Amino acid sequence: MIFYPQKVDKSRLMRAVDTALAKKQIKPATYYPTQAGSPGAQEARDAIAAGAELVIVAGGDGTIRPVLQVLANHHVLSQTDSPQSSQTPTPALGIIPVGTGNVLARNLGLPLSNMARAATIAVAGTNRRIDVGQVTMTFAGERPNETHVFGVMAGLGLDAKIFANTNSRLKRRIGWVAYIDGGLRSLPVTFERLSVSVNDQEPRQLKLHTLIVGNCGVLPGNINLMPEARIDDGLLDLAAVGPRRIWNWIDFWNRVIVVNWLIKRVVGWRKLASQTANVKTLENLRGAKVTVKPEGTVNIQLDGDPFGPVEQAQFDVIPLAVTVRV
Ligand SMILES: [Mg+2]
Repeated sequence: MIFYPQKVDKSRLMRAVDTALAKKQIKPATYYPTQAGSPGAQEARDAIAAGAELVIVAGGDGTIRPVLQVLANHHVLSQTDSPQSSQTPTPALGIIPVGTGNVLARNLGLPLSNMARAATIAVAGTNRRIDVGQVTMTFAGERPNETHVFGVMAGLGLDAKIFANTNSRLKRRIGWVAYIDGGLRSLPVTFERLSVSVNDQEPRQLKLHTLIVGNCGVLPGNINLMPEARIDDGLLDLAAVGPRRIWNWIDFWNRVIVVNWLIKRVVGWRKLASQTANVKTLENLRGAKVTVKPEGTVNIQLDGDPFGPVEQAQFDVIPLAVTVRV
């Protein structure tokens, strides 16, 4: 049981999780609070080393992503014959959503604000295998390449600048409204010129504010950017966001909030979500491998974690890498 101690009340969490475990006659969990620096990753490695069959994460997207990474890497290693290939099976992942974004939990249809129900699903839910996206980033200067996974999406451009600028205390207090404020501080807005190649084909030149590379399609606010995208099809889907002016962009995020508000009250939200006129899906751009080269550099974010400006980003998918309880 990995949890983010700044956001999660441990005694409440223990009540929810140990109750769910007791119902299935499973012994109580071991609790690992995340440390600053690499939240979740070391804790996930410790859990695997201890022979855990199930790793439950209580936290936001920033805690889930490093755990996904460790589980996906363990899965990949277990498929090979290399001497490091581990004999321990890859644990399943249970998610107890905490915080404002919870993009992966939303895509999986998990309860966002009911800890007891989320704990029951984590312990006794069905196993579902999902893909994770993977990206190798080339940075300017001396910074060496880094490879990271994402559960939902990577954003290149204005979107990533917003995540980088959003004040996290503000974000916690008012949720996605903070991203609008982040957007304002990212001014002035410029177009990004990106060369995008899918499956090693002839690159296309795109001029846009943000390019989303999605493992699945739902953004916070339940806007479905890419209705065709599936989390288990081994493919990445691309969407271009290119409002004509900054106010359209602000309007875009306003719609995110409005739709989020409406979904709780109105049936037929899909119809509303489809009215997000500034979002254009690049229908033909879908594949197992995507290479993005900006003119200069472009900011990148993975499931809301900013990674700074990159000179190149090479994406692929690890198909069915992680088993999630849903
Ligand atoms: Mg997919």
